[in-house]
Amino acid sequence: YASTIEADLVVIGGGPGGYVASIKGAQLGMKTVCIEKGETLGGTCLNVGCIPSKSLLNSSHYYHLAHAGELKKFGILVDNVKLDLERVMEQKRNTVKALTGGIASLYKKNKVEWVKGHGKITSPNQVNALGPDGSVISTINTKNIIIATGSEVTPFPGLEFDEKQIISSTGCLSLSQVPKKFIVIGAGVIGLELGSVWQRLGAEVTAIEFLPTIGGVGIDGEVSQMIQKMLVKDSWNFKLGTKVTTARKQGNDIIVSVENVKDPSKKEELTCDALLVCVGRRPYTTNLGLEDLGIERDEKGRIPVNNRFQTVVPSIYAIGDCIHGPMLAHKAEDEGVITVEGIAGGAVHIDYNCVPSVIYLHPEVGWVGKSEEDLKKEGIEYKIGKFPYLANSRAKTNAETEGFVKILADKNTDKILGVHMICSCAGELINEAVLAMEYGASAEDVARTCHAHPTFAEAFKEANLAAYFGKPINF
Ligand code: FAD
Ligand code: NAD
Repeated sequence: YASTIEADLVVIGGGPGGYVASIKGAQLGMKTVCIEKGETLGGTCLNVGCIPSKSLLNSSHYYHLAHAGELKKFGILVDNVKLDLERVMEQKRNTVKALTGGIASLYKKNKVEWVKGHGKITSPNQVNALGPDGSVISTINTKNIIIATGSEVTPFPGLEFDEKQIISSTGCLSLSQVPKKFIVIGAGVIGLELGSVWQRLGAEVTAIEFLPTIGGVGIDGEVSQMIQKMLVKDSWNFKLGTKVTTARKQGNDIIVSVENVKDPSKKEELTCDALLVCVGRRPYTTNLGLEDLGIERDEKGRIPVNNRFQTVVPSIYAIGDCIHGPMLAHKAEDEGVITVEGIAGGAVHIDYNCVPSVIYLHPEVGWVGKSEEDLKKEGIEYKIGKFPYLANSRAKTNAETEGFVKILADKNTDKILGVHMICSCAGELINEAVLAMEYGASAEDVARTCHAHPTFAEAFKEANLAAYFGKPINF
């Protein structure tokens, strides 16, 4: 028998957008129900995205340091370094288990009710939770609904995932052996991160990318070029301006056919034993009941919302990967919080220009705001302040001197417009830049802010000094 539940807020999806919205709703006194169909909470990010990929990146980085003799210069001699891939995977699984379990505990603590099932909206104020066979488990009557159903892998026409050899990011996080020859279709964020994991563990990696540059959308051209150089030094092969047309299995191999984007008569066949398809993700809104409610989707399959994240049905909101904007966990989380605050009558504001991007390579790549290419296109006059890690004392101490910080500031007002960095801890350091930009800081503001010594962050201060005064101190 289906149960009936009365609620103030129903959140469909328990990923970063949905779980944060659920907790916020409960904290603001709403009786909150989260419908999540997965076995665990946390969505793509915790189960098959951010978290497992970062675990593999961390383990593979340690392996590479030991295996490639990178520790010798620190006086650490290790012989006979071996890889225990099963333990690498176990460490990943343990992390995912702890963090997804952590959300379940937070739900209990905050009194969010998790209904395990597929949410289907039946009216502006009602959602059914369906079981695997499509039968109704629960009917929930509610004042408001938030859709946080996320995204899924964009398939490649003609290629079927077996998740062993022809793999999506999900299969790539659980391979049982290191491929010898590994090809990634798409040198965006996933291609670079997951390619790095297997490259460090011993695979020969080739990335095939449609565009002439790597790193995906929004990356600064200079940064993209530098990370490409760094990866080539790590023995990566790149085929840029090249697109994959088909791929087929031949014995134990996969034959990948590619052609030049500008001159399609230039064709080539490449061989590999694992092929990762990472050409982007697309919104997931299957069987949500949107058609019957008159909620249409845009040309990319996204749910259109207004600046309070409301769909055309005022009691139904949408956030995260299934709407406009970058498909990032922190963006989904922030939207979750402000949407719920908005429902409670609060102000709703998000500055997408201040949503940071990070690619977790080594060194890491981080940026926020405008790239040089953006500023040129928009005709904004800017000045550049740059500081190389070669001249940073902490980077020298740690022998991590690759990279730089680049500040783009308004030529007339000195306001920081964009920050781009390659640094071993860019994922942490970029947040300082975000804070500065969120509060409208000028380069001089940051340059006059005391920074602890010796730290990687001093390069950020120095780059700001270079932007506003023209000269840093230490370079
Ligand atoms: P999701 O996390 O996709 O969650 C949606 C949830 O809704 C899922 O659990 C799904 O089961 C559930 N659901 C869907 N439909 C229904 C329904 N009808 N009923 C019930 N439940 C439903 N982002 C970063 O910011 N940093 C990173 O380092 C990063 N790394 C990534 C690495 C990989 C390999 C991948 C694939 C993604 C990565 N991302 C990263 C992106 C990040 O995972 C997403 O942006 C984020 O998960 C989006 O959150 P969301 O809540 O919108 O959706
Ligand atoms: P992406 O959009 O970053 O990169 C896809 C790349 O594939 C693009 O550069 C595109 O030009 C290329 N491409 C498309 N079709 C092609 C073809 N036929 N042949 C060759 N190249 C082709 O997408 P992704 O790497 O799949 O990642 C998906 C999403 O997940 C991203 O939106 C990203 O925000 C998110 N993500 C974020 C992180 C992070 O924040 N560190 C990590 C992983 C994933």
